[in-house]
Amino acid sequence: MRETTDILISGGGVAGLAAACAFGSAGFSVICVDPTPPVTDVDADGADLRTTAFLQPSIPVLQAAGLWSRLAPHAAPLQVMRIIDAGGPEPEARLTKDFDASDISDAPFGWNLPNWLLRREMVARLADLPNVSFRPGIGFARMLTRQAEALVTFTDGTQIAAKLVIGADGRTSSVREALGIAARTTRYGQKALAFAVAHDIPHQNVSTEVHRKGGPFTLVPLPDRNGRPASAVVWMETGPEIARLAALAVPAFEAEMTARSARVLGPLTLISRRSVWPIISQIADRLSGPRAVLLAEAAHVVPPIGAQGLNMSLADLSTLLTLADQHRDDPGQPAVTETYHRQRHLEVQARVTGIDLLNRASMAHAPILRDLRAKALDALYSARPVRQMLMRAGLGLGPKGTKTDPS
Ligand SMILES: Cc1cc2nc3c(=O)[nH]c(=O)nc-3n(C[C@H](O)[C@H](O)[C@H](O)COP(=O)(O)OP(=O)(O)OC[C@H]3O[C@@H](n4cnc5c(N)ncnc54)[C@H](O)[C@@H]3O)c2cc1C
Repeated sequence: MRETTDILISGGGVAGLAAACAFGSAGFSVICVDPTPPVTDVDADGADLRTTAFLQPSIPVLQAAGLWSRLAPHAAPLQVMRIIDAGGPEPEARLTKDFDASDISDAPFGWNLPNWLLRREMVARLADLPNVSFRPGIGFARMLTRQAEALVTFTDGTQIAAKLVIGADGRTSSVREALGIAARTTRYGQKALAFAVAHDIPHQNVSTEVHRKGGPFTLVPLPDRNGRPASAVVWMETGPEIARLAALAVPAFEAEMTARSARVLGPLTLISRRSVWPIISQIADRLSGPRAVLLAEAAHVVPPIGAQGLNMSLADLSTLLTLADQHRDDPGQPAVTETYHRQRHLEVQARVTGIDLLNRASMAHAPILRDLRAKALDALYSARPVRQMLMRAGLGLGPKGTKTDPS
């Protein structure tokens, strides 16, 4: 007899594993496949050294998935988002604006966690869920859609029948391809360098974006490392410049990153490897097809600005789970898949467009454009209602804000 499941998740990246935990915790039967087993040790080859800042609305999603109690002890809170313009002749802060979470909420904006640790805790949570089968080492190959199910064939030739297929298999999604859904891609000629640093000046739970040219240099708080304050850094620049920086000897690299940070946390010491990530924007033309939906980077990719990428993905997950829960008898019916597309596509489009604009502003090379950028930041910040509206929009909150209790 052929194996059956409510939910088949293609992709065991952070988004796919989160979806497996969420659907499993909600009582659905789940199979999750990924040809690449997750790396759950920071020192192992292939460990994902990026961090994810989970914004307020993502916390209830992680709580419902049984994950937040595991993650909270390792998280660093983000109370203030500081934006610095260092676009003048010298790489010095010429304009500093603090967006403080207390302006709109009694909770921090979010909590920052290393991606390798997310994978470790998510895999551990799956082991507690007997209704979830995680199968690293095999991938989604193709599917045939029938009236009542999707017949999925894996890369090892085995087959299963699923009521709903979730494509969480990244920016080159095989599920998206199988559905014949096209995606629009914008390339910026940009890459990001991700690494961790220690510094003598405490970060005081402030996340800082320093804008000059080529893209932002972002410092996001981490818990102290060996008794010293620590931060995760994402440094965006043109592809050739990132290749040069990644190849620099450590002392020369430390000197360049300290200068690029406008010395906001004093001298920076490199405490991790450097990993390079390509930067694109991408959006799928549709977020669903027969018996299938696209989630996370299979559906949308944005440059790492304002911690939007995975937070958008958890919003996708929350919408999908609510709809599936309303149709538990058949979570793959059009009332779930079509409604998911309608509820998420416009919102996702608006965010991809907004982050594209922010990224282009941050890349500005010409001094006149950098001056304009500083003026725009100053004007937007000065009007309190506009400032509050921007903070709520960045978090994905409604007009009145939401108070989140992460305990
Ligand atoms: C430098 C940087 C910093 C970032 N910082 C933040 C942040 O602070 N906050 C935030 O919200 N977001 C952030 N993001 C975005 C976030 O990291 C991504 O949204 C997230 O990691 C993508 O997860 P994913 O699971 O969708 O994709 P992936 O991690 O690409 O996972 C896709 C998985 O699918 C698997 N797969 C591929 N083909 C198949 C197949 N045929 N069958 C089954 N599986 C398959 C792959 O092996 C992979 O494991 C950042 C991104 C970058 C580049």
